[in-house]
Amino acid sequence: MRFPEHFIQEVVDRTDIEELIGKYVELKRSGANLLGRCPFHSEKTPSFSVSPTKKMFFCFGCHAGGSVITFVQKAENLEFTDAVEYLANRAGLPLPKESEAFVGQTGVSRKRVLEMNLEAAKFFRACLFDPAIGGEGMKYLHEDRGLSIATIKHFGLGFAPN
Ligand code: ZN
Repeated sequence: MRFPEHFIQEVVDRTDIEELIGKYVELKRSGANLLGRCPFHSEKTPSFSVSPTKKMFFCFGCHAGGSVITFVQKAENLEFTDAVEYLANRAGLPLPKESEAFVGQTGVSRKRVLEMNLEAAKFFRACLFDPAIGGEGMKYLHEDRGLSIATIKHFGLGFAPN
């Protein structure tokens, strides 16, 4: 599945890069960064640098580098989404459900929007088929536009009263 951008960001935010990489590499503080021997190529002198503030790593020997997600991909041989899942589990973050993966900036899920649309469609349809409310609409669709009742039902047409 594809994870929403804000979820990936949260996974990165909740991951302590020093603690994560420290499980694979012995890191020593060097100024603002941490230095160790690269886990991705064989070397005697440390050229593998980790920046806790930028949450990035870089090896001056083999030029491997990237985010905590890139690190897990390389270290555990995982695809991007599997690496995100791995880090989410590690951080105790529940994975978003499939439908929630579509949640936009409104915070409303696609499933919820579809449910609301269905409720609205049912309401306007009931209005159309109530002669006291939708008589005028039914006359327009049926007589003026020549739509059969079957067509009106098939396309879920409705009537909005004033
Ligand atoms: Zn390297």
